[in-house]
Amino acid sequence: MKITLLGPPGAGKGTVAKALMAYDGSVQISTGDILRAAVAAGTELGKQVEARMAAGDLVTDELIMSIMEQRLQEEDCQQGYLLDGFPRTLPQAQALKALLQKLGEKLDCALELDIPRDVIIDRLTTRRTCTNCGEIYNVKSKPPRVEGICDVCGSEVVQRDDETEEAIEHRLEVYNEQTAPLIDFYRDEDLLVSVPTSEMEAVMEAIKSRL
Ligand code: AMP
Repeated sequence: MKITLLGPPGAGKGTVAKALMAYDGSVQISTGDILRAAVAAGTELGKQVEARMAAGDLVTDELIMSIMEQRLQEEDCQQGYLLDGFPRTLPQAQALKALLQKLGEKLDCALELDIPRDVIIDRLTTRRTCTNCGEIYNVKSKPPRVEGICDVCGSEVVQRDDETEEAIEHRLEVYNEQTAPLIDFYRDEDLLVSVPTSEMEAVMEAIKSRL
């Protein structure tokens, strides 16, 4: 399967991607994870994107496309992939389409998780992330066994800089302005599958009936 996951921050794209990955061996490719790893490692790329990410602004299309052009040609992508957080703008969606055409490939679908705004805000403000392995927790529904410590790798679990209430409001505005237009783009491409939930059963049903 080659799927892109659409939906505002906090819609559950990462969780759905992981579940689908376990189902059919596709790889999850999260541009947010790639950039956060670069920031954590202090690379040139990390230094370039750190401030924009902390403010909840998008990094440039050129930068994202140069990362993704390489990433999508790596060996593990042959089995299929779940794009999580990419494309994020119309120019990225158009560039992805052109890149896939060049590679003789195409997306199977764009899966939109259409989740109400109040659910999103509640999820994001209570979300915590491991600074090392990226495991996601939630202070209400899935706290780590020991407060502030990752169950998986023992590293520190924190609230991301871009998950304060102020940054979240801004990220939702950025989503509405720059990413929501992709829903029409993929509808016109006849690739859009929309589900009003991130519950895996409903998501799987929608994908199966589409594929
Ligand atoms: P995410 O984890 O997907 O919410 O991404 C976190 C941050 O990384 C975003 O707020 C952006 O600053 C940056 N980012 C991730 N993916 C993209 C993308 N496709 N285009 C531009 N910026 C991105």
